Amino acid sequence: MYPSSFNYLKVTNFSEASAALLSAGENAKVLAGGQTLIPMMKLRLIKPELLIDLGGIPSARDIVVGKQTVEIGALARHAQIGLFAALKAFPIVGDCALGIADAQVRNMGTIGGSLAEADPCSCWPALLVALDAEVLLDGPQGERAQRVRDLLADAYTPDLAPGELITRVAIDRAALVGVGAFVAFKRAAPAYPTASCALQLSYDGDRIASVRMGFGCMGLTPLAFDAVHDMAAGQQINADLVEDIAQAAAEFVEPIDDNKGSEAYKRSLARGLVIRAFEIVEARRHGTQAPETHSYYG
Ligand SMILES: Cc1cc2nc3c(=O)[nH]c(=O)nc-3n(C[C@H](O)[C@H](O)[C@H](O)COP(=O)(O)OP(=O)(O)OC[C@H]3O[C@@H](n4cnc5c(N)ncnc54)[C@H](O)[C@@H]3O)c2cc1C
Repeated sequence: MYPSSFNYLKVTNFSEASAALLSAGENAKVLAGGQTLIPMMKLRLIKPELLIDLGGIPSARDIVVGKQTVEIGALARHAQIGLFAALKAFPIVGDCALGIADAQVRNMGTIGGSLAEADPCSCWPALLVALDAEVLLDGPQGERAQRVRDLLADAYTPDLAPGELITRVAIDRAALVGVGAFVAFKRAAPAYPTASCALQLSYDGDRIASVRMGFGCMGLTPLAFDAVHDMAAGQQINADLVEDIAQAAAEFVEPIDDNKGSEAYKRSLARGLVIRAFEIVEARRHGTQAPETHSYYG
């Protein structure tokens, strides 16, 4: 199907986009990778009268790995992030980026669009709440930073003021210390996960110094399982500890019955993904062969 007719504006900075969005109100949409927006327009589920294309904003795709922070431009594409050489040191990021959908979606879809969509099954949100990352926003009131956890406090409704846009994602380098993995269980590659889990561990000798864990598709929002840190910090990794954490995670998540499975099934998936994530992190830490991060059952 063809979308209904619309006017098109290609902007060269976020302020211009924000002003156009504010003045057109509900009648306008910003376009990033178009991987969600264009299909919805083609199905005529939405009919914006004005499409504001962010694709011409210089530096909006930049990725900067600084000493304190990793900053990723909102227009950075999933594949670009997953293949970015300076991010190879943080495999959890590559796991997440390169597990999204198929090559087409990864080559067009953007991290900013993914966050703005606020789909509880999207992959970036699960990772970014685990790492307690921030987004930088630009709008009529100027620039501000917001935690991803607050941006995504509700399903499909990002906490953005009228005319406000996501310009960058900022991850504190301290959250990326150690070894991590992002794992997902999917019906097929070009489908959102049925469940996903992000795990980042840091070590003090052979003991766990810190744990960060997040879940996607396990509730109406991405979930950060912060209590896991107190369960595990100071302990050595062994099968009993991993099982205890996996059980606690299965109780912590908030899945709902839907066409992807029952609540009980999804709790069991959460448990299994936690165990898988620990296996991968331990294998990576010791330089041994790690299991695959993504499973497909379709
Ligand atoms: C077949 C298929 C499979 C998929 N599988 C997965 C998957 O496995 N995992 C996963 O995580 N995702 C998946 N996706 C979603 C994909 O990652 C999309 O790229 C992403 O959700 C939207 O990003 P986009 O850049 O294409 O945004 P667009 O489609 O251009 O925009 C999406 C929404 O965000 C708004 N928006 C875009 N950028 C900004 C911004 N900077 N500031 C404010 N608002 C903005 C738009 O106005 C629009 O409302 C899949 C999509 C498809 C089509």
